[in-house]
Amino acid sequence: MNAKIEAVLKELTLEEKAGMIHGAQLFQTAGVERLSIPPLKMSDGPMGVRNEFDKSRWVTVGNEDDYVTYLPSNSAIAATWNRDLAYESGKVLGEEARGRGKDVILAPGVNIKRNPVCGRNFEYFSEDPYLVSELCAPMVRGIQEADVAACVKHFALNNQETERLWVNVEIDERALREIYLPGFLAAVKEGGSYSIMGAYNLFRGEHCCQNEALLSDILRKEWEYDGTVISDWGAVHDTEKAAKSPLDVEMSVTPDFDEYFMANPLIAAVRAGEIKEEAIDGKVRNILRLMLRLKMIDVAVPLSKGSQNNKGHVEVSANPERKAGAYNTPAHREKTLEAARECIVLLKNEDNRLPLAPKKRGKLVVIGDNAKRRQSLGGGSAEIKALYEIVPLMGIKSYLGGSREVVYAPGYYVPEKKAQDCNWQADSVSDEGQKDAKEDVENAKEAELQKKLRDEAVALAKEAEDVIIIGGLNHEHDVEGRDRDSLTLPYAQDELIEAVLSVNPNAVVIMFAGSPVSMQRWSGRAKAILWMGYCGMEGGTALAEILFGDVNPSGKLAETLPFRLEDSSAYALADGFGRALSKELKEEEEGAMNAHMTQSYTDGLLVGYRYYEKKNVPVQFPFGHGLSYTTFSYGNIALKQKEAAADGRKLIANVSVTVTNTGSRAGKEAIQAYVGKKDAAADEPTAELKGFEKVFLKPGESCEVTIPLYEDSCFSFYDVEKKRFALRHGTYIIRVGSSLTDVKGTLEIRL
Ligand code: BGC
Repeated sequence: MNAKIEAVLKELTLEEKAGMIHGAQLFQTAGVERLSIPPLKMSDGPMGVRNEFDKSRWVTVGNEDDYVTYLPSNSAIAATWNRDLAYESGKVLGEEARGRGKDVILAPGVNIKRNPVCGRNFEYFSEDPYLVSELCAPMVRGIQEADVAACVKHFALNNQETERLWVNVEIDERALREIYLPGFLAAVKEGGSYSIMGAYNLFRGEHCCQNEALLSDILRKEWEYDGTVISDWGAVHDTEKAAKSPLDVEMSVTPDFDEYFMANPLIAAVRAGEIKEEAIDGKVRNILRLMLRLKMIDVAVPLSKGSQNNKGHVEVSANPERKAGAYNTPAHREKTLEAARECIVLLKNEDNRLPLAPKKRGKLVVIGDNAKRRQSLGGGSAEIKALYEIVPLMGIKSYLGGSREVVYAPGYYVPEKKAQDCNWQADSVSDEGQKDAKEDVENAKEAELQKKLRDEAVALAKEAEDVIIIGGLNHEHDVEGRDRDSLTLPYAQDELIEAVLSVNPNAVVIMFAGSPVSMQRWSGRAKAILWMGYCGMEGGTALAEILFGDVNPSGKLAETLPFRLEDSSAYALADGFGRALSKELKEEEEGAMNAHMTQSYTDGLLVGYRYYEKKNVPVQFPFGHGLSYTTFSYGNIALKQKEAAADGRKLIANVSVTVTNTGSRAGKEAIQAYVGKKDAAADEPTAELKGFEKVFLKPGESCEVTIPLYEDSCFSFYDVEKKRFALRHGTYIIRVGSSLTDVKGTLEIRL
C-alpha cells in the first residue's frame, strides 16, 4: 500500500494536493480528475444517511431519491446493551451510505454524556466509557464492512453545546484517559475506524483540530493511528497550526472553499517557504490510504519490464471490487425494527400494569404530541429524511387494527418552528447562528393553549379504559447547537401528566428522550413508565409490540436519570456549562487569537453514576436499570478458575453466574458486573461497569454467564507519572446484578 501511495503522491502538484485536503463542496473534497482520483464524499450521520445538500449552499436539493432507513440514535442503541445490534445497525448504516454513493459516514458519536442537559446527548451512547466502547467498536466494524469509512466523532471532550466553538476544556489527565478517551480508543483500535472527526472545542488552550497533544501525541504517536483526521465543519482556525498538526481534511460550512485555511492560504504559505510541502504530503498520504482501504481506487505502480504496468507511469483506477451497498432495503428495515425492540426501557411496572390487553373492549386514549410527531426530521446534523417513520400513534393503531377504538388528544402544545430559508448550519459558526440557536422556543400564548389541550385530554382520559401518555422531549430540545437549562419537561407536561393520573391512575407514561428528564412530580404515582429514545423508523411498531406484550422489554438505561440537574456531578462538583462568554468579550478574545471560555472538569472521574453512587445521591432511576415482563433469578455467583485469555491480555478472573428465567414469558436480561476498589480515594469511583452479557431465556430456562475480568480494563488506573495504565494492587469488590443498584451478589478479589 505504501508503494502505491508514494507513487501517486509523486504525481501530484501542490494545488492538487491542497484540493484533496479541504472541502470543495459542503460535503466533499476535490478529486484529481487528471489522475482519476475521486473526491471524498461524506455525509451525516449516526441515525442514517443525511439528505443531499446543494454543493455550496445549505439548502436541500429536494431530490426524491435520498430518503433512507432511519436508525435508532446512538443513545437509543446504547439502551439495548447488545453488541450484536450495535454491529447490525452499523452494517445497515454502512450499506446505506455506500448505496448513496458516500465514502465516509460521519458517525458514530462517542462523546461521554457528562452533562445531562447537553443538546447532543441523543447522538452519544452513554455516560459510561466501557459501555460506549463495547458498542461503538462493533458499530464501526459494521459500517466499514460496506467499504465505507466510519468517522468517529467528536475528538475530544465535546460534551456541551454551549459556546461549543470556543469552550476550552481543562481536565486532569486521569479523567481524560479513564473517562473521555476510551470510546475513541475503542473505535480506532478495536473498531479500526478509518477516520475520526476533530471537535469544535478547545482542549488545554488549543482548538482540537489543531491540537498537538490530542492529535499528535495521543492519536498518532500513542495510538499509532494511521487513519484520516477530518475537522468538524468550521473547526479549523489557523493555517500554520492546522498544516503542522496531524489533521488531514478541513471541512467547513461556508462556500468560500478556496479561502479555507488549508486551501489558498496554505498554498501561499508553502510557496512563501513558511510551511514545508511535506506537511501536506503527510495529509495526502492518509487520504490515499483511506481511498485504498475503501477500495475507492486501485493503483498500478510502474514496475520493471514485463510487469503488468509497464507504461512507466502510475495508473489510478476505480477498484471494481468495491461493494456497491444499497439503501431502503426490506432487510434494513427489519434490522431497524429488531434494534428498536431492544432500545425501549421499562422503568416501572407496578401491579403488572403492562402489557396491556390488546383485545380489551373500551376506548384507548393516546395523549401527547410525541405520539404523532415525526422525530427523524430534527436534531441538527443528525436529521434524517426517513423513507417513513412509524410514529407511536400509528404503531398502536396499526397493531390494534379495527379491534379497538383509539382516540388521540395532543395534551400539550408545541409551538411550530419558524420556517427557515436556509439550514441552520449555514450560520452555525457565526455569532448570529450561535445567538439564534439560543432563542427561546416557547411563546407567550402558550400557557393558555396548554390549559385548553390539557383539559381536553383529561376529559377523554376520565372515560377511557386505557390511557397512554406519550411525551418527553423532541428535537427542539435534544438538538445540536444548544443545551437545555434544566431537566424539567417542556410544554407544561408535568401538569398534564399529573392531571391525567389524577383522573385515571392506571395511565401508562412513555417518555421519549435522548437525555434525562425529571419525572419527580408524578413518577411515584404512575404505575407504568417506559423510556424510549429516538428509536428509528420502526420505533412506533416496536413500542406497540411492547405495550401489548408481543415483545418483552429488555432495554437498560445507558445513563442515570437524576432527579435534578443540580444533583449531577457537572453541577455539584463543577460549573455546569461554565461561564457564558459575552459577545464583547468573545470579540476581544477572538482578536487576541485565544478566544475561549473555560470549562474545568473538576468532577474528574466522578461522572454520571460514578458520582451518584459514590456520594449516595438519590436518583430517579439508576444506571443499568430496566425491567422485564418476566423475572430472572441470579444464582451461584462466583469467581471461576481463570482460563488463559485468547487475546494476549491478562485475565485476572472470570465472574460466573447462573441466570434463570423464573417468570412465564421468554425474555432477555443484561447481566452487569461493576468493579470498585475497596479503599477508593475520595475522588475515585467505587463501582465501574467492567463487563456485561445479554442473554435470552425461555421460561424456566437457565444459563451460566461468564464475564471475564482483565487486568488492563478492570484493575488498572492511568498512572499520570508513568504516563500509562498500570495495575493497582489492593482489594476489589465486584458487584453482579441487573443494574448498578439491583445487586444480586458481591465478590472480592485481592490483587
Ligand atoms: C457537526 C458534525 C457534523 C458536521 C457536518 C457539524 O455541525 O458538529 O457532527 O458531522 O456538522 O454536518
